[in-house]
Amino acid sequence: MSSLRMPLKYLDNAKKILCIGRNYAAHIKELNSAQPQQPFFFLKPSSSILKPNNGPFLIPKGVIVHHEVELAFILNKELKNLPDSFSPEEALDAIDGYALTIDMTARNVQNEAKAKGLPWSIGKGFDTFLPVSNFIPKSEIPDPYNVDLKLSINGETKQEDNTNLMIFPIHKILSSMSNIMTLEKGDLILTGTPKGVGPIVDGDTVDATLSVDGKEIARIDIKAETKPGFYEYKET
Ligand code: CA
Repeated sequence: MSSLRMPLKYLDNAKKILCIGRNYAAHIKELNSAQPQQPFFFLKPSSSILKPNNGPFLIPKGVIVHHEVELAFILNKELKNLPDSFSPEEALDAIDGYALTIDMTARNVQNEAKAKGLPWSIGKGFDTFLPVSNFIPKSEIPDPYNVDLKLSINGETKQEDNTNLMIFPIHKILSSMSNIMTLEKGDLILTGTPKGVGPIVDGDTVDATLSVDGKEIARIDIKAETKPGFYEYKET
């Protein structure tokens, strides 16, 4: 309830940010990845959050950053050791609200990590690598599998798909995750990106929208700049 009055409060309550990978078939294909048998996820740090109107989005030097537009949801309760029978209705009951997000990914860093069996923390975890929208009340998304996600760079559409293409539905994501780590009230869960991921460079303007039946519900507008500091990616 308080999240309705304070649209960004939800971000302060997220102890964890969990991101499903490889949840759209056409995106798996574009990266030549294997389709997982079980939902597969990684964590992003809360310091990677870029709040609305808090830009710019920062590109680390030497990094090829890809945009991944995603529907996220916020949990309203603790979930632990859920059985396989956990139902779609029970899953919707556990959702407090939604957000539009962009899971920014340092693709060349991630590719090296994949090749060497290293964690994805760096490739997914830089400051500003998680632009988010305001909190979306649950009532504005009657069906999380009928949401249009769109991302444009400098006015050119790059990603545009509906969440009905998700491979693992939310109840399967939750039952799988909850047997690995306790999901807590306030946790933010990203559901994966559709096809069309690609690079963002310094100077680009990125716009993402979330719509339901043609009505825009949430938006992210960011401008990309080079990240200050001493980090520079060099392939080794
Ligand atoms: Ca992603």
